[in-house]
Amino acid sequence: MQTARFARVIVDRSADREFDYLIPPGLGGRIQVGSRVRLPFRQRAALGTVVDLPDESPVPEASLRPLDAVIGERPIISPVLIELARWMADYYCCPVETAMRSVLPQVIRAAEVDHKKQLFARLVKSPPPEELAALEKRAPRQAEVLRALVEAAAPLPVASLSKACGATHQTVQALVKAGFVETASTAVERDPYDKEIFLANDKQTLTPEQEECMTILRRALDAPAAEKKPVLLFGVTGSGKTEVYLQGIAHALERGQTALVLVPEISLTPQTVERFKSRFAQTQEQVAVLHSHLSDGERHDEWHKIHGGKARIVIGARSAVFAPLANLGLIVVDEEHETSYKQEEAPRYQARDVAVLRARMEGCAVILGSATPSIESYHNATTGKYDLACLTVRVDDRKMPLIRVVDLRQESQRHPKGSPLVLSEKLRSAIDARLLKKEQTILFLNRRGFATSLVCPSCGHVCRCTECSVSLTYHRSANRLICHLCGHQGAMLSRCPQCQDPAIRQAGLGTERVEDVIGKVFPKAVIKRMDADAMARKDAFRETLHAFKAGKIDILIGTQMIAKGLHFPNVTLVGIINADLALHLPDFRAGERTFQLLTQVAGRAGRGEMEGEVFVQSFTPFSPSIQFARHHDFEGYWQQEMDFRSKCHFPPFVHLVLITLRCAHQERGRFTAETLARRLGENLPEGVSLGDPVPAPLEKLKGQFRFQLLLRGRSAFKLSRHVKAVLAKLQMPVDVTTAVDVDPYQLL
Ligand code: ADP
Ligand code: ZN
Repeated sequence: MQTARFARVIVDRSADREFDYLIPPGLGGRIQVGSRVRLPFRQRAALGTVVDLPDESPVPEASLRPLDAVIGERPIISPVLIELARWMADYYCCPVETAMRSVLPQVIRAAEVDHKKQLFARLVKSPPPEELAALEKRAPRQAEVLRALVEAAAPLPVASLSKACGATHQTVQALVKAGFVETASTAVERDPYDKEIFLANDKQTLTPEQEECMTILRRALDAPAAEKKPVLLFGVTGSGKTEVYLQGIAHALERGQTALVLVPEISLTPQTVERFKSRFAQTQEQVAVLHSHLSDGERHDEWHKIHGGKARIVIGARSAVFAPLANLGLIVVDEEHETSYKQEEAPRYQARDVAVLRARMEGCAVILGSATPSIESYHNATTGKYDLACLTVRVDDRKMPLIRVVDLRQESQRHPKGSPLVLSEKLRSAIDARLLKKEQTILFLNRRGFATSLVCPSCGHVCRCTECSVSLTYHRSANRLICHLCGHQGAMLSRCPQCQDPAIRQAGLGTERVEDVIGKVFPKAVIKRMDADAMARKDAFRETLHAFKAGKIDILIGTQMIAKGLHFPNVTLVGIINADLALHLPDFRAGERTFQLLTQVAGRAGRGEMEGEVFVQSFTPFSPSIQFARHHDFEGYWQQEMDFRSKCHFPPFVHLVLITLRCAHQERGRFTAETLARRLGENLPEGVSLGDPVPAPLEKLKGQFRFQLLLRGRSAFKLSRHVKAVLAKLQMPVDVTTAVDVDPYQLL
């Protein structure tokens, strides 16, 4: 085979293009597509990834520079993942090296962290009995170490060996000198789960509905690549979707393939990981776990466990969609509707969408599961782009929880003025009943802190962050006013800063205040709050869940942290303190989010033998998302949402691209946005429409003024390429930052 002479490389530094280099004879044969290389770039050395070995280069050979070195023996990225990075750069309108940054984790690119090394002792020869007896008298510690090694019949780490035998390093060294033992340092893997024990959990006999879903999934797994379709698994909460994933994975493994499971970060709890690890524990199948709380060392080791083929199953959050699995058979995206699959910094990709694309490139099956499918995915199922598999009943025919809507407008008339309305009379007596029966309650409010603003009753002044256009939240435990956007903190005020009135009032509810009120109403109940403030300590989350599961907590109050995926058989009551919070955001997805949130939170109730009940408190009890959620009517909600999206030209009928410009100088920001709008408007591609430049709903953030431009069109590529081309030619003022978001989730 002729060795390649040219290498096309994506350099880690920014440039948004690929560069050609010469492969020096010394490196011939060692450079492959996917190799990491060191190379000269501009005046310095840089790292890059080989993405192609072209026969020729458009650049004259004399002006090409040679690569310096290759790093590692094997390519670290597969051709499919390279293709995926290129696709992302094109689709999500970002430089290709930015896309590459997501595909290859920093710790792997930098190649600074290595496997952890540990010193092991190995028996070279067994001591004859009489020698061992002599040693016993002369040096009992040495004898004990020898005996331990004989017994183990395998090398043992020197550290734990010494500890177990009460010996020191010198003891072991003496044995090395005597020729009985050898030491060597060996790479060991860090296992973030090494302290957990996983009991095998056996395959369940499928219900008839699950069986039907499996048939559809098995067909997708066995079909030739060209005939595969993504499967949307629409299963109500508690219907046993995970069992379908597990058996699908087992099927992929039987075919000699690997499997990737994506879950939202927030539901990647030990509980979830355990379900997957324990199912495959019997066959010694290794499951690698990827999430954002791994240390660099752990991430390095998990990544190599996958790359080296040791782990055939990967479970992880958003970025795990790029896990270096070879021979993929199945990708599972659980809770596919979750907005946390969208990355909110460049590259602004949607991991579910990337998963569907990766599956197509790999020729493998993909299953998206949810109790509340996204509008986009359900649309794809109705048009036949996806196959639809449904689970309409809960396992064991457990009933769906009864949802009651409480009209807070009526409640507030009865409620004494001046104190916050937290509990309606109905919700209060429902909690009371649970406390008597020793059943558990979950209360949900998607807002942290005590009071969400400070308002002066005489002059109307609202305390705002000086850097952001939002009011400051009062946190009572810290006794500070905190901005939830930029983190700015200030002292609590005792009088209005404007008119000095001391009657300044705390308005709006946060979880801290709910905890306070509930504590007063139910002084005997054990209450625990679960939100980002209360769970700041590393193990707090796990400990609280354990305590709750063990029945040591009566009422759990929390933010979205408790809305997802948790399974507690003894919870028979869920109260949603205020369902309106999400509804009034200036965002076309507000209705969708509210429906999903209500359904998911309600799904936490009645997961055991007892029937569940849900109270939804709202000032707008007749809004469609609340009413459809109440009747468990997905079809109805979907239909009305589609009507609205179609009338107002929103996804899935079009793609959106949101451009946000930020500048500390308001007028310069506005002026730049207007200039950009003008340039984008010149030769706008056909079928693309452009909105006027406007101040963003969140006008000011961290001291910067924000302006937005919204483009709509049928083809995301067309939008993206147009924006990229215009931006490349436009000279922006240095203090204006531009962010381009394709298929945005945040319009704030
Ligand atoms: P979902 O993911 O749809 O919310 P789960 O997969 O968590 O539902 O299933 C709910 C419960 O039902 C789990 O405890 C699971 O072990 C159990 N389960 C699932 N499938 C079966 C089955 N076929 N037979 C018995 N129990 C099952
Ligand atoms: Zn702020």
